[in-house]
Amino acid sequence: MAQTSISTNNLTYRYGNLTAVDHISFDVSEGEVLGFLGPNGAGKTTAVRILTGQLQPSEGSVTVLGKDLRTHAKQVQQFMGVSFETTNLYEQMSAVENLELFARLFSVKNFKALPLLEKVGLSGREKERVANYSKGMKQRLMLARALVNNPRILFLDEPTDGLDPVSSQTIHTIIRESAKAGTTVFLTTHDMVEADKLSDRVAFINKGKITALDKPAILKRQYGKRILKAEIEKVDGTTEIRSIPLDQAETAEQARQLFMNEKLLTAHTEEASLEDIFFKVTGRGLLG
Ligand code: ADP
Repeated sequence: MAQTSISTNNLTYRYGNLTAVDHISFDVSEGEVLGFLGPNGAGKTTAVRILTGQLQPSEGSVTVLGKDLRTHAKQVQQFMGVSFETTNLYEQMSAVENLELFARLFSVKNFKALPLLEKVGLSGREKERVANYSKGMKQRLMLARALVNNPRILFLDEPTDGLDPVSSQTIHTIIRESAKAGTTVFLTTHDMVEADKLSDRVAFINKGKITALDKPAILKRQYGKRILKAEIEKVDGTTEIRSIPLDQAETAEQARQLFMNEKLLTAHTEEASLEDIFFKVTGRGLLG
């Protein structure tokens, strides 16, 4: 059984009268990727700032790597890697200098920047000033920076937002490899395709509350309908799309009729997307 890496109990945060995080409780296991999914303003960033020890909760508690964050924040921060969209890199310094500075802050012994820069696809450009980097390169450097201390928990906030496919792919590969090596990944995103691809489990967060938390496949089974979509050719040569809901009592007979009586051109199954399910559970879209 994997150890619990992060555990929250009734975690709550208020900005004045506004409850941004509203009594949330969940556990994340070592080596698990948890997708924290919700629209802008849902409370994701506030939650991450509490989990990383930057904000004190108004109520409730957080245990990270077995330690209460209220009393051991400094100690557990040594084992965290954090990549936030808003984190500033030192633009006038090179990528190597940025990483070496960070390694000194974390007192990482015998730190070597080049292998890490190679991992994020920045070798060859490592001596250039970061100011000249594209958005994708900066984002990849931020991920490298989050990995400097070889963290046991990686917090990533919208790691591929607005990036080109190559940069996104590199980041996805690193997330998968890190989790495989036992690093816990806490991934906040409003990109449901990314969350679906990478997460072992996803939490839906809406108005500060967790409204669902499970494996993407289970959420789809629980809330979404699967359908069989078939394209058939009619006698007059025109085509038509037929949809048959799966997992129903009449599914088998309907599918049998279709396959026996019609000229099938294509047939495939479709399942609900996380976006559909988020809408079903919360009554709102992820981009709203
Ligand atoms: P998300 O990361 O999901 O976009 P946030 O955690 O940033 O959500 O915000 C949650 C809620 O808290 C929003 O209603 C937002 O306007 C509010 N909020 C965030 N930061 C502050 C702040 N510093 N002061 C007051 N309200 C804030």
